[in-house]
Amino acid sequence: MNQREKTVCPHRRACGGCQLQNMSYGEQLLHKQKKIVSLLGQFGHVEEILGMDDPLHYRNKVHAAFGLDRNRRVVSGIYQPGSHAIVPVDECMIEDEAADRIIVSIRKLLPEFKIQVFDERSGSGWLRHVLVRRGFATGQVMVVLVAVSPIFKLQKPFLAKLLRLHPEISTVVLNINDRFGPVVLGRRDKLLFGPGYIEDILCGKRYRISPSSFYQINPSQTEKLYSAAVEFAGLSGKETVLDAYCGIGTIGLTASDRAKQVIGVELNADAVKDAIVNARLNSVKNCWFTQGDAGKFMEQMVSDGHRPDVVFMDPPRSGSDGRFITSLLKAAPKRIVYVSCSPETLARDLELLCQGGYRVRRIQPVDMFPFTNHVETVVLLTKGTV
Ligand code: SAH
Repeated sequence: MNQREKTVCPHRRACGGCQLQNMSYGEQLLHKQKKIVSLLGQFGHVEEILGMDDPLHYRNKVHAAFGLDRNRRVVSGIYQPGSHAIVPVDECMIEDEAADRIIVSIRKLLPEFKIQVFDERSGSGWLRHVLVRRGFATGQVMVVLVAVSPIFKLQKPFLAKLLRLHPEISTVVLNINDRFGPVVLGRRDKLLFGPGYIEDILCGKRYRISPSSFYQINPSQTEKLYSAAVEFAGLSGKETVLDAYCGIGTIGLTASDRAKQVIGVELNADAVKDAIVNARLNSVKNCWFTQGDAGKFMEQMVSDGHRPDVVFMDPPRSGSDGRFITSLLKAAPKRIVYVSCSPETLARDLELLCQGGYRVRRIQPVDMFPFTNHVETVVLLTKGTV
């Protein structure tokens, strides 16, 4: 794609997912660079944002809400911002095209298999969402049907037909979510076909991904992000590394070849299980993963007299909390590599780390989410003058 061309999406107004529709890709990169300079420039020089060669169809995970429109016709697509009205979307310029095709097929199969979609107003019906994840490097595809109950009468013939139409599907999971509210996935999964997870390859390592585990949605840009993060860590093979907010262990495992040992901590129990499997899958013997709150874990680590040499931290959008920052300052690692998807909370946390004696050395923005407002940033901090 020519960086100066504009791509216009027919759903842009109703959907609202791509806020930078009015800009060419080149303009988007410039806009994001300026945003990071204005929020983080006070901490030091901002390196040039790493963009994509082809910024279309980068999302490896596609979520479609299913429901009824005003005329009680079945629709699937994206929630309108701030509402529960569904904007019908069959094709999206940032979503994986194979995933979009599967979602459309599922919608078309519903009448034949007497599957009712859930109606929020009356509380009747069954199917609420469909989630498709594809491992871009392996081609493996996971379909998650989110429904209000585990009873699926015509399960067998439905699956047979879906798999005939899409032999690329490697696993199908039924997730049960009977609660009201914005959370897509419920707590229970029922395996309908295949192993219940998919695998993907990132920075040369293989990863298992379960339905609810966090996995970066743009793999080619994630490789750039992780490469920058590992470079910033400056590892020599002697370090004890903490991978805080580690998800399925991707950053820690990417760094493991260059460290003495890596300890990962993560709140989501399924993601931790995946991280442990991932270490085994890659024959990595120097990584340990544990479930818990990252701040609490580091507090304990410090009070037990252990201190990491390098800390990777990759918190959710809300940033880190007081407990984590306080224990991080106590742990006083030589290097902190902060990976952030929210420059606003990043600026807030950097301020606290700088007050605690750290200096920002490198700031590298990465465009993980073309056409949207979001920017990912990786920052290196070291103590004092080192
Ligand atoms: N580093 C991973 C995941 C980053 S997303 C990757 O690159 O893929 C942020 C992760 O933080 C999520 O997996 C989320 O479950 C986890 N998380 C959220 N709050 C947490 C907390 N208080 N302690 C530990 N992990 C937390």
